[in-house]
Amino acid sequence: MLYEFRYLAPRTAGELVRILDERKNDGKILAGGTDLIPNIRNGLMKPRFVIDVKKTPEASTLAYSDADGLVIGTAITINDILRSATAQDKYPVLCVCAHELASHQIRNRATVTGNVVNASPCSDMAPALLCLDAKALLRSKDGQRSMPFKEFFTDVKKTVLKPGEYLERIEVPAESRGARGSYLKLKRIAGHDLGIVGVLMVRRGDDIRFAVSSAAPTPVLVDTVTSKDGPEEAVRKVLGAVSPISDVRGTKEYREHMIGVYVRRLLSEVK
Ligand SMILES: Cc1cc2nc3c(=O)[nH]c(=O)nc-3n(C[C@H](O)[C@H](O)[C@H](O)COP(=O)(O)OP(=O)(O)OC[C@H]3O[C@@H](n4cnc5c(N)ncnc54)[C@H](O)[C@@H]3O)c2cc1C
Repeated sequence: MLYEFRYLAPRTAGELVRILDERKNDGKILAGGTDLIPNIRNGLMKPRFVIDVKKTPEASTLAYSDADGLVIGTAITINDILRSATAQDKYPVLCVCAHELASHQIRNRATVTGNVVNASPCSDMAPALLCLDAKALLRSKDGQRSMPFKEFFTDVKKTVLKPGEYLERIEVPAESRGARGSYLKLKRIAGHDLGIVGVLMVRRGDDIRFAVSSAAPTPVLVDTVTSKDGPEEAVRKVLGAVSPISDVRGTKEYREHMIGVYVRRLLSEVK
């Protein structure tokens, strides 16, 4: 059965927050639509208004400055990140994770902001943003607020965003420039698929970070591993921070085993 909604495309941030405030109860934000449209098609969401966040002048921003770091607007797709010389040069960890997200076709539509607001435990961009100390800039008619990604995700598919508020931009700080890392993602099939488990390791000098996807209600940052820890201590710390479940894609025990395998492998690979 056809389902009808009204499509709104505000051209300024002011107009956008006014509409979001008016449509708090019957509107949904549209970015690339790769999560939203299947949800509407499958009857899981029935918004009367679909509000496009890609049409404001700021939405297409993908720019670096020493003050703000890398700014990622609401229209920036995963493939925009992969094509960006700045991202490749200054923030290779973003590209390492972006490359693992879905297929080329999906990456052409899917946005970075949509990926984190969707807040799936298996989000592939969240591990990079967590390890790089990125911040979410949120905006509503009441003003703006800033939130580190380690406080952004609250539960499965839940974030700190309030009704009428949107994620206006992501800032990846200049201090995280040059961090090196690698992301290992276990999938049921070769090629593109949601992860059974994913482990990212990032190194900045002596500072080591891990982030794990698909192993807890939210993507998890582990910043307690030090360069003095041996592999078994590192595995113990990472496993202590996650709480994997058994589901259709894998058992708890399989996930825990593979996290251990990946942590050991990453420690020897990321120098
Ligand atoms: C076949 C397929 C394979 C996939 N594989 C992967 C994968 O391997 N890894 C992975 O991480 N994801 C995967 N996904 C999920 C999806 O593609 C990503 O989560 C994508 O990045 C979502 O971005 P989008 O721009 O399409 O978001 P949309 O679908 O437009 O929006 C997602 C949600 O966020 C809200 N929203 C969007 N932008 C904002 C904003 N700026 N402020 C507030 N709310 C906002 C929307 O209302 C919606 O609830 C896959 C999806 C499909 C269909």
